[in-house]
Amino acid sequence: MAKILITGGAGFLGSHLCKSLINENHQVIALDNLYTGRLINLQSIVDHPNFKFLQHDVCSPFNFKNDFDEIYNLACPASPIHYQKKPLETMKTSVNGAFHVLEFAQQNNSRVLQASTSEIYGDPKVHPQPESYWGNVNPFGIRSCYDEGKRAAESIFFDVYRKFQLPIKVVRIFNTYGPFMDPADGRVVSNFIIQALQNKDVTIYGDGKQTRSFCFVDDLIRGLISMMHSDQSVLGPINLGTTDEFTILELAEKVIHITQSKSQLIFKPLPGDDPRERRPDLTKAKVSLNWKPEVSFDNGLLKTIDYFRGLVMS
Ligand code: NAD
Ligand code: UDP
Repeated sequence: MAKILITGGAGFLGSHLCKSLINENHQVIALDNLYTGRLINLQSIVDHPNFKFLQHDVCSPFNFKNDFDEIYNLACPASPIHYQKKPLETMKTSVNGAFHVLEFAQQNNSRVLQASTSEIYGDPKVHPQPESYWGNVNPFGIRSCYDEGKRAAESIFFDVYRKFQLPIKVVRIFNTYGPFMDPADGRVVSNFIIQALQNKDVTIYGDGKQTRSFCFVDDLIRGLISMMHSDQSVLGPINLGTTDEFTILELAEKVIHITQSKSQLIFKPLPGDDPRERRPDLTKAKVSLNWKPEVSFDNGLLKTIDYFRGLVMS
């Protein structure tokens, strides 16, 4: 049984990770400031003897007892509407959070995994994106608090590794969806499903020809755990996601079709610096982790629609 700390443990991905690790009989502590996270996500494990929740902001040093084997650093708002509402806090969360998490990992001599992002590549000029691509990020636009914060966090992780040989792991997560996404989160999959289930207009930003590649949450969580358990020589960065690339228009039509919705498409202005296309090169994940996504987009979407149908009906 390992003792594991998960920052951002009450969020969408963090809560799935907590549940997976509890199912594997580990002792799990979820740390979260509840900015975008919700305790309801942890309802099924909150009374489990191996689970504990700690309300704390990663921008402040960790002053609690420490004997963790593994730390997953997931704390950071991930949806554009949330990080753009609190841009300075988002930058601090990535940068100060990285320092505090790494100091804590050093005290514990624990493995530490950073949840980085495909936003490292910004509006990419290389397609699909391999980890060797340095990206095309606007350093002062409305997405930079998130993109540059995550880039700085990667830089801090690798410098700490070079200086102290701390066992770090860095994954770059591409768009992930599934049950327990916050309905008010504003991300495209949850927005479209809720709009379609309520027969409301489906909101396409821009012309809808921009693309994303969508990964089901169960596959992603498996990838995070594989990365944590990978050979000490595997530091990353490693892309995790799928190569199922769709335009946003295709996604909207698929959701409307599956839900048999009467919704119409409406077009709204494209937010600034919205990446035109995104798809991971997954070679490194296959070679280094023997990991690849397994859930088809149609199956993942059905499970996610079922989850939101339960919420909309209740
Ligand atoms: P989320 O917003 O649901 O979860 C983030 C969690 O971090 C929330 O519970 C929030 O309350 C917490 N948090 C934010 N600031 C904090 C702070 N200062 N101190 C403590 N807790 C704080 O987002 P998610 O989708 O679960 O994303 C989790 C991680 O994965 C994030 O780091 C995100 O950047 C990364 N990521 C996610 C995706 C995706 O598609 N879901 C893609 C790329 C990267
Ligand atoms: N998007 C959209 N309608 C929505 C929400 C998002 O057309 O209601 C678009 C958004 O402009 C972007 C894509 O869908 O091009 C993915 O948005 P999301 O916020 O889910 O993720 P990210 O932009 O961070 O990849």
